[in-house]
Amino acid sequence: MRILILSDIHANLEALETCMEFAKDKYDRAVCLGDLVGYGPDPNAVVERARAATNVLIRGNHDKACSGVTDGSDFNLLARLATAWTRQQLTAENTSFLRSLPQGPLLQEGFQLAHGSPEDEDEYIFGPGEAHPVLHKVTLQITLFGHTHRQGGFAMHRYGRFQTIRIPPSEDGLVHTLALKEGARYLINPGSTGQPRDGDWRAAFAILDQDHRQVEYYRIGYNLAFTQTKMMQAGLPQPLIRRLELGR
Ligand code: ZN
Repeated sequence: MRILILSDIHANLEALETCMEFAKDKYDRAVCLGDLVGYGPDPNAVVERARAATNVLIRGNHDKACSGVTDGSDFNLLARLATAWTRQQLTAENTSFLRSLPQGPLLQEGFQLAHGSPEDEDEYIFGPGEAHPVLHKVTLQITLFGHTHRQGGFAMHRYGRFQTIRIPPSEDGLVHTLALKEGARYLINPGSTGQPRDGDWRAAFAILDQDHRQVEYYRIGYNLAFTQTKMMQAGLPQPLIRRLELGR
């Protein structure tokens, strides 16, 4: 089984469509680790597309804030402005779909999904300091997580050897293949589809290949200028438009 892993799409329809087009014929099932909406200009289209294209979805902090599960008062000013705009745009049907998304961690056949951390859906796993205790605790070999918008992840090998999984800069397409070792445990971040923050503006996703015991990381350029134009027309804050091209 090959599992397409999307995360943090953030209402970026061009990024989502480009990833889906590139990944087509490459996977059997698709999962999404949360944050369908927030920041980007196409919340309704992205909810509808992701809902149709994926088999399993969990909620992210922006899905909660934009659908009224939380009030988003812990967000910074720019995120609060984008949340208010998104709430106005979302149809009743899409709002209630976002409200109904399950909380992670969610157990699947041989792996689990989390938005932030399996301990706390809103917690960021940025570095070894956060990843180490989580990898000590988990019993499953593979935990998929997002929320940081940084492609890569962490591993704990036999005898406690810790590894940060780094993705080298590369051309569009398959940028890194990670072989999953027997006896190791992994935290796998596919990166953000719609708002990367690891210095590379291109849309990110990953594929877990369960038969070949590997994770494939992908990066694909998309029509960024079109997304930015739509954000401008929507009156979304300038720094949110700019950050897309910076990958920050
Ligand atoms: Zn996010």
